Amino acid sequence: MNKLLMTPGPTNVPTRIFEEMNKYMIHHRTKEFGKVFEEFNDRLKFVFQTEHSVLTFPAVGTGGLEASIVNMFSQNDKVLAISIGVFGDRFIEIGKSFGVNIDVIEVPWGKGIEIDEIKNKLTDDYKALIVTHNETSTGATNDIEKIGEFMKGKKQLYIVDAVSSLGGLDIQMDNWNIDVLITASQKALMSPPGLTFIGVSEKAWDFYENSKIPKYYWDFKSVKKYMEKPIPQNPYTPAVSLIIGTNEALKMIQEEGLINVFKRHEDLASRFRKGIGSLGLKVFVDDRYLSNTITSVEFEEDKTSKLKNIMEEKFNIVIAGGQGTLKNKIIRVGHMGYVNREMIDKTLYSLEKTLEII
Ligand code: PMP
Repeated sequence: MNKLLMTPGPTNVPTRIFEEMNKYMIHHRTKEFGKVFEEFNDRLKFVFQTEHSVLTFPAVGTGGLEASIVNMFSQNDKVLAISIGVFGDRFIEIGKSFGVNIDVIEVPWGKGIEIDEIKNKLTDDYKALIVTHNETSTGATNDIEKIGEFMKGKKQLYIVDAVSSLGGLDIQMDNWNIDVLITASQKALMSPPGLTFIGVSEKAWDFYENSKIPKYYWDFKSVKKYMEKPIPQNPYTPAVSLIIGTNEALKMIQEEGLINVFKRHEDLASRFRKGIGSLGLKVFVDDRYLSNTITSVEFEEDKTSKLKNIMEEKFNIVIAGGQGTLKNKIIRVGHMGYVNREMIDKTLYSLEKTLEII
């Protein structure tokens, strides 16, 4: 049964993408693959809004976070990170597990970081600042443009986890001075899970040269070296079908136009939030930090599982519950990637009917 995935990932994958990736297999050391891979790498740069290389690994977003840690740092490097929810905390945990010395600014869940807190804390002894753009566990967005203005000309690296935002929210890697920008295929890029993408600035390549954490599979330089061969390739067998599928997704984004894609996400998010208000429900996040890719809705304790089940079983719509300390307290609805007005309205209608039952 084809269910509507109004989740914060994996999201709905357009048929056009499945059709493209399921045609046939291409060998990864051929000119044919090289042509697709070259086109794909150019398109990735377009959505990352960067002139720098964007590296691809067969992995989920967590792999991308780990790759960024092991390629940028050495043990005991001092790094500042923001705890804003489950995924901010995951990045911190990964760093700590490799011996990076991470100091944390704690932000109450449902809010974003205030730039002054970063300004006060980021002293010269820090090597980097790590920020989660869109905290998927709460539905709060950090102002990475403003933080990027502050990071301009700084010696520290600016690392951004954009797993649940890139392709749905405007992120200008180069203009906003981002050094390492990480995302994955299964959210706003409307592709199946299995690929992570990492944009790497010139400054980040300098950090790579000094990084002493051991790496092999995740080694940025070996990926870049193969990408730059006369026939662009990967050091190991790439996830060929996923690359072909995501290439089609990136093509769809190009066809729609980045500005139109962002506007569609903005319009649909505001339509959904308005609908939530009309149902007498409350959005969990303060207005200042609202996300245009995911909305979390406050909900009566312990009713969230029932609501999710009815939505899925009766209406074929999959939504998500809360995570960590927000378990059973909120529901989370993703509106990113391949999403339109009809899907939003169908979700609101089904939510209304479900509320009448429970
Ligand atoms: N960071 C953010 C902001 C995320 O939303 C997610 C996934 N929900 C991850 C990291 C981890 O990605 P994955 O589940 O693909 O490992």
